[in-house]
Amino acid sequence: MQEEKIIYITRKIPEPGLKLLDEHGIKYDIGNFKKPPTQKDLIKELKKKNYSGVISFLTDKIDAEIMGVCPSIKIYSNFAVGYDNLNIEDAKARNIFLTNTPGTSSQAVAEHTIALMLALTTRLVEGDEYMRQGKYRGWNPNIFIGTDLRGKTIGLIGAGQIGTEVAKMLRYGFGANVIYSDIKRNTDLENIDGIIRRETADVLKESDIVSLHVPLLPSTHHLINAETLKTMKTTSFLINTSRGPVVDEKALIEALEKDIIQGAGLDVFEFEPKLSKGLTKLPDVIITPHIASSRQSARDNMSIIATKNIISFFETGKPLNNVY
Ligand code: NAD
Repeated sequence: MQEEKIIYITRKIPEPGLKLLDEHGIKYDIGNFKKPPTQKDLIKELKKKNYSGVISFLTDKIDAEIMGVCPSIKIYSNFAVGYDNLNIEDAKARNIFLTNTPGTSSQAVAEHTIALMLALTTRLVEGDEYMRQGKYRGWNPNIFIGTDLRGKTIGLIGAGQIGTEVAKMLRYGFGANVIYSDIKRNTDLENIDGIIRRETADVLKESDIVSLHVPLLPSTHHLINAETLKTMKTTSFLINTSRGPVVDEKALIEALEKDIIQGAGLDVFEFEPKLSKGLTKLPDVIITPHIASSRQSARDNMSIIATKNIISFFETGKPLNNVY
């Protein structure tokens, strides 16, 4: 008889994934945390049983300390596209699989990226505040003058699954000219008229809006910093729906204060959940609480792929999306 497996899920995931676990006879405990568990909380939980796997969230730091707590765990399945919270070297040293849920939220994140762009170019949030403050005195041709996306140059840094969706929405939906930089060729985008691959330095220099779609890696940490911000147009906007530390937030705030760039739309923050001092005081900045993938469709897909990674590993010895 096959040994019964039990996994630990650090916070509740949507039903479709739990249903799959039930169908495959895999038991689970779910952490009952109202906010992200601390390292100490996780250690306490993982000591309770001989778990065989974990479904983790991007707020769970999975490193040697955690991996050492319950040696029977041979897979950490991240309920996320990004996996910068997982320490690959520590996992390799212990023959532990680390997985993510690629492609599960590309549409959602791309739409949120466009929403941030449009919110800035149409001055949507400023207009809404103005109305709520009772300042509206009738139609006025001279207030809240925005900009069109058509004909503008929009630069994407990183053109993987999300960047590709953003590029197509901008090109086909808004008639924008898209330039992108990526360390890899993107054959999907290469054949689209009006979308061109450039060097990152050129993307920064030439774009009216720069949008970031790279993973957080040592090579992308602070990719946007005081120096690179200075190369951008003074009228440009920066959008970040990737990971907070890709941007040096202090340098960004300084650049916005000194009008080195015009504005920013941010869904992710360098010191999440904390916001750097001064960020909320800036006009021309729109901030959302890391919700770019927050759609039931995306969450259900993430739940399914995160559990399928566990199921595949238990049944075949290999998960679907090992990250290394
Ligand atoms: P992906 O792996 O498909 O694409 C990432 C692209 O970045 C790849 O094409 C890669 O070659 C490129 N890249 C890597 N280093 C680069 C560099 N130095 N310069 C230029 N390009 C570089 O990933 P994806 O699905 O498009 O997701 C991108 C990131 O978005 C994720 O890693 C994650 O951190 C973030 N994300 C955020 C949310 C959110 O809720 N805000 C949701 C999902 C994903």
